[in-house]
Amino acid sequence: MHELSICRSITAIVTKHAAGKPVKTVHLKVGELRQIVPDTLAYCWELVTDGSELASAELDIERVPGAIRCASCDETHTLTAPILVCPQCGGRDVTIVSGEEFLITSLELAEV
Ligand SMILES: [Zn+2]
Repeated sequence: MHELSICRSITAIVTKHAAGKPVKTVHLKVGELRQIVPDTLAYCWELVTDGSELASAELDIERVPGAIRCASCDETHTLTAPILVCPQCGGRDVTIVSGEEFLITSLELAEV
């Protein structure tokens, strides 16, 4: 499962940055054009962190809407569906300007 390997990478990064301190929340930014299902990601996070020092850490997933720039009408449009076609002129000569993010934006450490 795609999300499972993503969660393993997140735990590796978080463990390194937390340096032994207890983590309360991991804030993520996930673009809507990414083939990632937030619910599945949250579920996999539970599986991967179960019994580890990150077991009490929660994922906070912020979705970033997809946006494209159309070469034909020279405008930027926010996408309501992950389809790379200009909603204004139907043009396919588009550049993705956002929606492909996958970032750990911050870690919230628990009070000790
Ligand atoms: Zn267009």
